[in-house]
Amino acid sequence: MSKKDIRSLSPKQFHDVLSELGQPSFRARQVEEWVWRRSCKNFSEMTNIPLALRKTLEESFDIHGIQVDDLQRSSDGTIKNGVKLHDGRVVESVLIPTDKRITACISSQVGCSLDCHFCATANLPRMRNLNAEEIYDQVVTIKQQADKYFNRPLTNIVYMGMGEPLLNYANVLKSIEKITGDEGLGMAPKRITVSTVGIAKMMKRLADDNPRCNLALSLHSARNEVRKTIMPITNSNPIEDLRDAMVYWYSKTGKKVTFEYVIWEGINDAKEDIDALVKLCQQVPSKVNIIEYNPIGDERFRMANQDVINAYINALANVNVVAKVRQSRGQDIDAACGQLANKNTANA
Ligand code: SAH
Repeated sequence: MSKKDIRSLSPKQFHDVLSELGQPSFRARQVEEWVWRRSCKNFSEMTNIPLALRKTLEESFDIHGIQVDDLQRSSDGTIKNGVKLHDGRVVESVLIPTDKRITACISSQVGCSLDCHFCATANLPRMRNLNAEEIYDQVVTIKQQADKYFNRPLTNIVYMGMGEPLLNYANVLKSIEKITGDEGLGMAPKRITVSTVGIAKMMKRLADDNPRCNLALSLHSARNEVRKTIMPITNSNPIEDLRDAMVYWYSKTGKKVTFEYVIWEGINDAKEDIDALVKLCQQVPSKVNIIEYNPIGDERFRMANQDVINAYINALANVNVVAKVRQSRGQDIDAACGQLANKNTANA
């Protein structure tokens, strides 16, 4: 029988296990720091832990790790990792370097159960949730790569890789705790963003739990009739419900929501589309990221021209909403938003 991963224990379970082994209370903290902050994968390396205890722990527990199976570098510096999990499944995570930041874009599920028509990950069935350790380890890997390839620190983390973070709720929250916690990476909460397709109930729950992160919503249209045709989740989560959930989020956390928004020709490039977004932004304290479209080979989707983008930006500026255009990164290696599809690695 395979042993349990020691990192799957909650902090309380961690302490219980060590106190049952007759250990003083500081010991749990020491072991926690080894497996989280120092990413130790072998009990024998835990030099400040008594030898006998290391052996006992090793008899009962494993420390699972992830492995970068395939590393691709884009001409713009972006790095895409094909990451193999301990059961052989593969996800992708991306390091995005810009002048001011190094961002880790990480996955929360193997595949995705949503069906956004413009996203390549939608073609992969959802196979399983990642556990908190697997999410955390992607961050550690990218942090090390930032150091190795750029000699710079990792500054930002976005849950915008494969999968829907709010459908893997508990593990995503645990990973955030470890990324921000002292026993883990100690990163600043304002640098962490969870992005959701828009599941109102889960967004409210997130607001209640008020975790150490920001929230982004992949909106793409503020009109139900349009959004339904490209994001079927809208049928069960109409804009009105999302709006209420975001207003609730702001009331609980005091943090603005970021809307992710791609503008496509003939889909959401009309005046009504702009008006609907302006209206929503007036109701929800928010800012807007206009994302470049990354083609995934579907003829229906073509990015709108600059005039339309400017019209959006101006209309938003008129009501004091900040809209920024986010340039696409890593397109040549299929590392950009919506392009993560395990093309190089078969997910057996
Ligand atoms: N499921 C979550 C996390 C994925 S984030 C969510 O939907 O937010 C991936 C982001 O890239 C989302 O904002 C998504 O809408 C966007 N995206 C998907 N396909 C894209 C494409 N082809 N070009 C640009 N952005 C895309």
